[in-house]
Amino acid sequence: MARIPVAAPDLAGSEKRYVLEALRSSWISSTGPFVDRFEREFAELCGTRTAVSVANGTAALHVALMALGAGPGDEVITPSLTYIATANAVRYVGAEPVFVDVDPATWGLDPARLEAAVTPRTKGIIAVHLYGHPADMDAINAVAAAHGLWVVEDAAEAHFARYKGRPVGGLGTIGTFSFYGNKVITSGEGGAITLNDPDLERRVRLLRGQGMDPERRYHFPIVGYNYRLTNVACALLCAQLERREEIIARRKRVFDAYRRQLKKIPGIGLQPVAPWAEPAPWLFCITVDEAAYGCSRDDLMAQLAEEEIETRPFFIPLHGLPPYRDASRRRGDRLPVTERLGATGMNLPTYGRMRRQDIKRVTEAVRRRAALAASPGGAR
Ligand SMILES: *Cc1c(COP(=O)(O)O)cnc(C)c1O
Repeated sequence: MARIPVAAPDLAGSEKRYVLEALRSSWISSTGPFVDRFEREFAELCGTRTAVSVANGTAALHVALMALGAGPGDEVITPSLTYIATANAVRYVGAEPVFVDVDPATWGLDPARLEAAVTPRTKGIIAVHLYGHPADMDAINAVAAAHGLWVVEDAAEAHFARYKGRPVGGLGTIGTFSFYGNKVITSGEGGAITLNDPDLERRVRLLRGQGMDPERRYHFPIVGYNYRLTNVACALLCAQLERREEIIARRKRVFDAYRRQLKKIPGIGLQPVAPWAEPAPWLFCITVDEAAYGCSRDDLMAQLAEEEIETRPFFIPLHGLPPYRDASRRRGDRLPVTERLGATGMNLPTYGRMRRQDIKRVTEAVRRRAALAASPGGAR
């Protein structure tokens, strides 16, 4: 039986044509019409004054933190249940990530737990819109405002998700996006920074472009970075944006089918959706309650792998990983929701061109494993 991958890009629109157009024009580096067009269109879609393309989502976070002035001795509040880039960017600038537990209703930072993590060193918060679901931004912004903190939205997994009707990326001080190959909109590698403040934009563009003074070529007022994105990558992104509604609608169909077919299986939990949220359909998430389902998340993943169905476990919580565990232990971080989700969550194959029979194959395999565990003498 053909292998079902966990993710696959949908490049069936103008992607090839635009990339060839970029090649033929010989604009293959980081200036060119597709760069300008992508930045203009992406800003508009995020409801921000501007969008700045960057090499990848990690570079977007790094530049955002530098532009906001985060540095040695500072603390930045982040979730522990996220991709490691969120915390690594904090370390790149010499600051320390302080982990706060996530809210079981959103899987994003729990606003009720933020206050207790704020110290005189705290400079800002990175809210992650995990697995496509927006964090509770109004509540997070309220805590930030009370303590004079900035807020970065890590929207790498949540392109065009909406919070109370407003698109993510423009809800905090700065938004960051990734266009890695498995994200909803992709250029293979790529990223963007969205923001409204013109001074911040100047700093972001300076840092991204090797620090070169825009008014004076080869004059460098600061040490910058080469974090630019190419016109070729932006050609891909322009094609993806043209079809964003179709791309999202196709993924939503996969989500709807999964929800329908999985909701009655005991022990299988689905991703919650807050009443104010319109999540982005990134990777479909389930949680496995071992007692109710009959086997563990890891056993289920192994079974699916045997049937040529690729899955991924949720992110291993960062406070347990070597770069962060000692500092987290010293602080005595308590993150029970993060730990439960990290141990029981997994992503099922999710891509727009997934066929109905492939979805069925996945959900039947999940159902069969439960039945097997429940049968007398069944595998545990
Ligand atoms: C993918 C991702 C990133 C990093 O993006 P890259 O483009 O791979 O550097 C950052 N944060 C989160 C939450 C992500 O999922």
